[in-house]
Amino acid sequence: MKEKKIPMRKCVGCGGSKPKRELLRVVSPKDEDIFLDLTGKAAGRGAYICADPDCLAKARKARRLEHAFERQIPPEVYDMLERELTEAIK
Ligand SMILES: [Zn+2]
Repeated sequence: MKEKKIPMRKCVGCGGSKPKRELLRVVSPKDEDIFLDLTGKAAGRGAYICADPDCLAKARKARRLEHAFERQIPPEVYDMLERELTEAIK
């Protein structure tokens, strides 16, 4: 079945491309900490990740969010993202 114009995004964890709506958005607001943007509309630079803690673990290990956002990400921010992601997929 051919579907047209589904916006695809790449997961920062596994690197796989998926329809945007199946991914979670991580946003890097200008002067605030990075967080999981469950509305998909928060202002700031965004990166996408599967709704899977394993992908977050991979992204963390490979520092892919640091690269995507060109900023440092302290461990507590990753811990928070992990909690938010776990909550979001319950
Ligand atoms: Zn993934």
